[in-house]
Amino acid sequence: HLDIADADPALWTAIEAERRRQEDQIELIASENHASRRVMQAQGSVLTNKYAEGYPGRRYYGGCAHVDTVEQLAIDRVRQLFGAGFANVQPHSGAQANGAVMLALLQPGDTILGMSLDAGGHLTHGAKPALSGKWFHAVTYGVGTDGLIDYAQVEALALAERPRLIIAGASAYSRVIDFARFREIADKVGAYLMVDMAHIAGLVATGHHPSPMPHAHVVTSTTHKTLRGPRGGIILTNDEGIAKKINSAVFPGLQGGPLMHVIAAKAVAFAEALDPAFTDYIGNVVESACALAEVLVARGAAIVSGGTDNHLMLVDLRPLGVKGNAAAEALERAGITCNKNGVPGDPEKPTVTSGIRLGTAAGCSRGFGAQEFREIGHLIGDVLDALRRDPEGDPAVETEVRGRVLALCRHFPLYGGAGHA
Ligand code: PLP
Repeated sequence: HLDIADADPALWTAIEAERRRQEDQIELIASENHASRRVMQAQGSVLTNKYAEGYPGRRYYGGCAHVDTVEQLAIDRVRQLFGAGFANVQPHSGAQANGAVMLALLQPGDTILGMSLDAGGHLTHGAKPALSGKWFHAVTYGVGTDGLIDYAQVEALALAERPRLIIAGASAYSRVIDFARFREIADKVGAYLMVDMAHIAGLVATGHHPSPMPHAHVVTSTTHKTLRGPRGGIILTNDEGIAKKINSAVFPGLQGGPLMHVIAAKAVAFAEALDPAFTDYIGNVVESACALAEVLVARGAAIVSGGTDNHLMLVDLRPLGVKGNAAAEALERAGITCNKNGVPGDPEKPTVTSGIRLGTAAGCSRGFGAQEFREIGHLIGDVLDALRRDPEGDPAVETEVRGRVLALCRHFPLYGGAGHA
């Protein structure tokens, strides 16, 4: 009965080092979060052993009574959370969820219209290197010079290209998305509307972003970003015919056995998101994002679209003369983790970029609020100012910031602290 630490020290050392990294660094990657202990407990359970191809009550294997209960709890809770008629909780990831919708509703070669990667869309929305861009005729819309989705362009492209599927939703867009407007455009050309709410699912669940459910034919999401569950995907719809096609597309179309331990962890997360405390958490996430954006603007950076309505922001570093890759690397040396990100119309290569993407969902899970995020904004400002003076950065400044980051992290310990877990 040796545990990993004794039986496999090489692996355990890496896991333990990652735990410490999460504890000691400020996580600003907008697509990440710190799931609760209960979510991780479900994921580490005996459910990982069970094959359960099919759906509750209709399985291809014996011994499924208990996992049926688990999956039904997940389905019932997520339907309640988002007001959805039908839910499939089996997609292994957000990409799998989007792939299953395409398998359910499209034929190879059909035209799809999604947000371009450059403007903040996701690979699965029709980007060239992805399956969605290779197997379909993918047309993309972007944002205007104001950084906002150009709905007139979406409509003009839809009328010209007659897509079978229009995709709304993004990975790096900080403003409210007008789902009703998207549906109006889809109806004009007889297209399905899919909303991928992966980033904003936690905001939708708590009323901090309008729900796509009344407008979209089908809604997909990840469960691990603002929703703060395990890594995974879901598909929701109010249309029974579409629901049947989606179920067949997920299994046997795209996947084999569902990850029952992950589905149990999704059920935990959905229950947590139904708790009023989660609404307070998301309120704090949104307020903190505004506070962080304000400080960054005061420190000379620009925010694409001028600000944020949600948990994230795209910081344009060009006014400071700093590159995205240099900023992300210097911030990591100082204990702040984020990702370099292209800004709309970015003149730099994707490996360099002119921006960074920042989000507040993970920080707020450990207990940070607007006050801490104002301080974090100034810490980022200090690191960026040093880069402005010297493209290599200033080790003294980075060390000073690292010390202040550690103090904040010690004050808000991740697991075992006063945060959500
Ligand atoms: N959709 C959007 C909008 C995303 O931002 C992401 C991930 O970043 C995905 C889908 C894909 O999710 P996954 O990484 O779980 O496949």
